[in-house]
Amino acid sequence: TEEALMKTEKLSAVGQLAASVAHEIRNPLTSVKGFIQLLKQDEFVSDKAPFLSIMLSEVDRMDSIIKDLLVLAKPQVERLSSFSIDKLLSYVLQLLSTQASLYNVYFIKEFSEEDLHLFGEENQLKQVFINLIKNAIESMPNGGRVTIRLSKTDDEFIIMIQDEGVGIPQHKIKTLGEPFYTTKEEGTGLGLLSSFKIIENHHGSITFDSTVGIGTTVTVQFPHSKEEQ
Ligand code: ADP
Ligand code: MG
Repeated sequence: TEEALMKTEKLSAVGQLAASVAHEIRNPLTSVKGFIQLLKQDEFVSDKAPFLSIMLSEVDRMDSIIKDLLVLAKPQVERLSSFSIDKLLSYVLQLLSTQASLYNVYFIKEFSEEDLHLFGEENQLKQVFINLIKNAIESMPNGGRVTIRLSKTDDEFIIMIQDEGVGIPQHKIKTLGEPFYTTKEEGTGLGLLSSFKIIENHHGSITFDSTVGIGTTVTVQFPHSKEEQ
């Protein structure tokens, strides 16, 4: 209906404003960060160095919140295309390989590249899997395995990301995706919020199956039509 249409337009105008504000804030933040780093090297302020370190990490935190907000505020489904979901997953694993090895985390890729095509916004879905696999890595401070599976049924693609991390208490599962819900010192709690939105835009679903101390399995499903293949 027309009313619904207007609502979407309004939302995207607000989104655009948020995106430009976020973008504008990032520039001065970058220079503030640069000058703090310079001050840290100055011998006259060296006894204040702990304060500067706090300033630096707080600036970093602002920067990561803004970065996540930018993803959130971006216009929703923009450039639709048909792309290979298995290639996208392999790309994301490659992108995160450095972070994984820093955490002593190994990826187990339980899928082959068969060019399973999904229709949607490739960059947004890339962001979803970056967020989910990053969370899997970050859940294992002492290392472990992240298993990534991809399968296809008649009408769905199913992607599973399984970690051996700290897990999520049952009563917290419904809190996931709430803005700023995070259990991490450096976290923003915006990764899942934006991922949920993107998955919803693609008519998909996401579920969490978790046991504290054992690990978490995140399952993402997307409908597909046979014509896409
Ligand atoms: P952030 O990673 O910045 O904290 P997210 O929205 O990505 O924000 O995640 C929110 C919270 O959900 C995390 O802080 C963590 O507590 C929990 N979480 C998400 N994924 C996992 C996972 N795989 N294992 C354990 N906890 C998780
Ligand atoms: Mg995250």
